[in-house]
Amino acid sequence: MRKETLAIRAQYERSSNNEHSVPLYMTSSYVFEDADDMREQFAEEKEGHIYSRYANPNVEEFIQKMALLEGAENGWATATGMAAVFTTFASLLESGDHIVACRSVFGSTHRLFTEILPKWNIQTSYVDFSDYEGFERAIQRQTKMIYVETPSNPGLEIIDLKKLAAIAREKGVLLVVDNCFATPLLQQPLLLGADISIHSATKYIDGQGRTLGGVILGSNALIQKVKAFARHSGPAMSPFNAWVLSKSLETLDVRLERHCKNALEIAKRLEKVEQVKWVKYPHLESHPQYRIAKEQMSAGGGIVSFEIDGGVEAGKKFLNGLRLFSLTANLGDVRSIATHPASTTHSKLTPEERLEAGIADGLVRLSIGLEHIEDIWEDLKTAFA
Ligand SMILES: *Cc1c(COP(=O)(O)O)cnc(C)c1O
Repeated sequence: MRKETLAIRAQYERSSNNEHSVPLYMTSSYVFEDADDMREQFAEEKEGHIYSRYANPNVEEFIQKMALLEGAENGWATATGMAAVFTTFASLLESGDHIVACRSVFGSTHRLFTEILPKWNIQTSYVDFSDYEGFERAIQRQTKMIYVETPSNPGLEIIDLKKLAAIAREKGVLLVVDNCFATPLLQQPLLLGADISIHSATKYIDGQGRTLGGVILGSNALIQKVKAFARHSGPAMSPFNAWVLSKSLETLDVRLERHCKNALEIAKRLEKVEQVKWVKYPHLESHPQYRIAKEQMSAGGGIVSFEIDGGVEAGKKFLNGLRLFSLTANLGDVRSIATHPASTTHSKLTPEERLEAGIADGLVRLSIGLEHIEDIWEDLKTAFA
């Protein structure tokens, strides 16, 4: 079956009640048939449910669907996207290991690299996203992993995953990709050669700003390591969130179609606005990595970034002029969202440090929702005025 169908039809085995829609299994543990069944399951001689920190039917349905969509052998779901990121590091790395990462990563991932992982003597080197030789040069004897986000947040930089995967393979290190902005429907990093694909399911996969969730996808061998760590350290996804997220996957394709269509149109219109210095959208011809984005992403996604003339103050003023757009920390929601990184997530950096991270003072990030295109546009026009 094709991805659109799998997202709807790939379903965990029906219960004896023959329900059409998968029910919610709110249970912390499961009963065994007898003492032998219990012994065999604990010894992992037999598959089954023991305890919801290990496995739950709703969580399994979500993992199964995500694995099918990504082209992954296996997966593991976590309570949040950050739990997925941390669990990946904690299960695949050891003290003394080294990571090479692209410079613009999600804020909390940056904190893991700079403040948390060094506690276990795991160090990270940053490389500019477009410097493929730099990635190669930064790989040392202790390097175990290359970690990247593409498209990046909020700069929407695009990394050629096939090219980076070839470098990772040659050097014998793992390539881990945060695929949150693209979702498996627009980009499948594992099929391009990556070893692990991570998602914050909180964003497009939920799509309506209700739940938090994360997922790690990869080969069976790597996921067994993830499982061995996660079962005992406990970052498990809740059955309720898994149930919501599995239902959300059923509409992901139609939602994304509208997100992408609206975002491309808004990006094109923004290019003609006088106060706008530049617009970035992966499938806009003016994007510096347009060719790569067209090759590895089936559509450009729902995020548009642009720089408004006038720096930090103009950015804040623009946000204050919006009425329809929500000012909130989420993205990938049915409701359009605007953020101004220089005065919020990146306000502690100096203007020079911000520029190095690809964040101009007047950069505005739009997460384009599913509202009518003309209502979205009128709100932006009012704010410019
Ligand atoms: C939001 C986000 C995360 C973290 O996910 P949470 O579900 O908020 O923990 C990681 N990476 C990217 C790119 C994100 O946008």
